[in-house]
Amino acid sequence: MMTKLNYPNSAKHQSQVRLYGQPNLAEAYEIRDFLNRSVVEFDWVELTSDEDCHRELGFAALNDLRLPVVEFPDGTRLFAPTVRDIAQRLGWVAQPRFKEYDLSIYGAGPAGLSAAVYAASEGLRTVLIERQAVGGQAGTSSLIENYMGFPEGIRGAELAERARQQAVKFGVELLLLREGIKAEFRNNRIYVDMADGSKMIARTNICATGVEYRRLNLPNEDRFLNRGLFYGAGVSEASMCRNQQVLVVGGGNSAGQAVMHFSQYAKQVTMIVRGSTLAATLSKYLIDRILNTANVEVLFNAQVTGLVGEGSLQQVEITDYSENSVRTINTQYLFICIGGVPNTEWAKDTNIVRDEAGYLITGSDLLKNGQLPACWSLDRDPYFLETSVPGSFAAGDVRHGSTKRVASAVGEGAMAVTFVHKFLAES
Ligand SMILES: Cc1cc2nc3c(=O)[nH]c(=O)nc-3n(C[C@H](O)[C@H](O)[C@H](O)COP(=O)(O)OP(=O)(O)OC[C@H]3O[C@@H](n4cnc5c(N)ncnc54)[C@H](O)[C@@H]3O)c2cc1C
Repeated sequence: MMTKLNYPNSAKHQSQVRLYGQPNLAEAYEIRDFLNRSVVEFDWVELTSDEDCHRELGFAALNDLRLPVVEFPDGTRLFAPTVRDIAQRLGWVAQPRFKEYDLSIYGAGPAGLSAAVYAASEGLRTVLIERQAVGGQAGTSSLIENYMGFPEGIRGAELAERARQQAVKFGVELLLLREGIKAEFRNNRIYVDMADGSKMIARTNICATGVEYRRLNLPNEDRFLNRGLFYGAGVSEASMCRNQQVLVVGGGNSAGQAVMHFSQYAKQVTMIVRGSTLAATLSKYLIDRILNTANVEVLFNAQVTGLVGEGSLQQVEITDYSENSVRTINTQYLFICIGGVPNTEWAKDTNIVRDEAGYLITGSDLLKNGQLPACWSLDRDPYFLETSVPGSFAAGDVRHGSTKRVASAVGEGAMAVTFVHKFLAES
């Protein structure tokens, strides 16, 4: 794994970060997840007693300091930092260099990264805005095995890191830990309000904001969030699950991959699937492996219906609807990998047409009974990846009708840039 502390707009590397905290500290999980997705190598040092605290950090007692503590290679420490504090300390949080861009891309998952590589290599003044870690959903995958060119598979974060380096090499400006929250289209420009109060202006934009996991919606879920209950495939946690019982909820490829990854560390992995088969939702290569791995069990027609624990998760209650029975499993690790909701809140007060689930509608899908929406303002029809606002494109999982795959997101990102050129040429 690479260490890259001079992120995000350079490719230089330094040595390792150390992260100290108690087991089940939710804030420590967030940091581990972020560092792991950002391909920063780190040591996780668990502190369970005052002696640990004194030996590792030189403080007399755990209560004497605010955890987690992050120690950088130069010896400086941050106490109870946020992910943003860490990124800031590493110099990853930058200000935009220009007042206006040819193209602003929102989301640095596969679609946004691919768009960024093509746009910058083709000479567009391009800014790529990402609210969390580079890589999006793909960055949370332990091993992507079906992306062309990687016969042995590649860790999602590693793939994303290569794309980041490529985009930066071509001159993309990457703004990390920034989020577009509201868009306005006027004077042939898109004006976006950012969560930090700043504004971003561009002549065109590509929305590549993807999707995120749906919640379980159990009443006490928030209490256990990142204290035993985790959203996502938990790549950063796998090595801590050695000899443990791990539960994974979901029947899709992301859940399947997570199950196989955990099976290398855990004593037992239980996959909880709402449907009665995996065939409709999971690739065949994963089904074969799951069914042939001794320490993996699959519960069909089952759902998590209860969470129990003091402080952190200790037990999960599962209802089996085929037998109408309830079973309780002792575990400290529950990973939720169920389908997603599109990140399109920012579009809600605009002329951008979304479908009932919130996905962005593009191209000929905008036609209803042969008619384009009344808000469409040009004589020509929208391009394939163009939304109902001219010059505003969508690529990847966030787009209505998209194939939820890395390769298709990458393809759409590249294709969207072709339409950006066409739009800029005609305006
Ligand atoms: C665990 C897992 C394993 C997977 N494995 C595979 C696999 O093996 N093969 C395969 O083909 N596919 C796989 N997939 C699916 C694949 O990862 C997705 O289809 C792909 O990542 C979609 O890319 P995207 O760029 O469209 O969106 P995403 O990857 O969802 O990226 C969207 C990005 O936009 C950011 N964002 C959202 N809103 C905003 C905003 N307002 N401002 C700024 N940034 C914002 C998000 O933080 C995110 O980084 C997997 C998915 C998961 C979760």
